[in-house]
Amino acid sequence: MQFSPDIKGSLLPFLAVKKLFEHPKTICYPEVKKEQIDGYRGFHTNLLADCIGCANCQDVCMNEAIDMVTIAKDVNPKNASGCIPRIDYGRCCWCSLCTDVCPPNSLKLENECIWADDKADNFLYFPKDK
Ligand code: SF4
Ligand code: SF4
Repeated sequence: MQFSPDIKGSLLPFLAVKKLFEHPKTICYPEVKKEQIDGYRGFHTNLLADCIGCANCQDVCMNEAIDMVTIAKDVNPKNASGCIPRIDYGRCCWCSLCTDVCPPNSLKLENECIWADDKADNFLYFPKDK
C-alpha cells in the first residue's frame, strides 16, 4: 500500500489565519446599525385617528395573531366598536394581509424591525399610533 500525504488537507487549517486580516462580515450592534430598507415589513403602525375598529385585520389573519382590544379613550368617532388591533408577535409571520384589507389604510408596516425582550408578554404589541 502506497502512502500519499494529503497536503492540501493538511494546509487548510492554516488558511484560517488569513481570516484575521479580512474585513469583518458582522457589525457591532447596537453601536452600529444597518441601513434600513424602504418597504421592509417590520412592526405594525396604526393611525388611530383613521382606524374604524372594523376587525377586518383580525378576520383575515390566518395565524390568529390579532386580537381586537377595547380602548378607554375615544380617539376616533368613526370607530364604532371602540376596539383597536393588538398584534401577537409570537404568531405573526409578517404576511401583511392585515394591512391589505384595512379599509381606511390606517394599519401599515414600518421599516423598524429589531426588538429584543426577555418577557414573552411584551410581544403582545399595540401598533404605534402613526
Ligand atoms: S402580518 Fe399577517 S400574520 Fe401578521 S398580523 Fe398581519 S395578517 Fe396576521
Ligand atoms: S386597523 Fe384597519 S382593518 Fe383593523 S380594525 Fe382598524 S380599520 Fe379595521
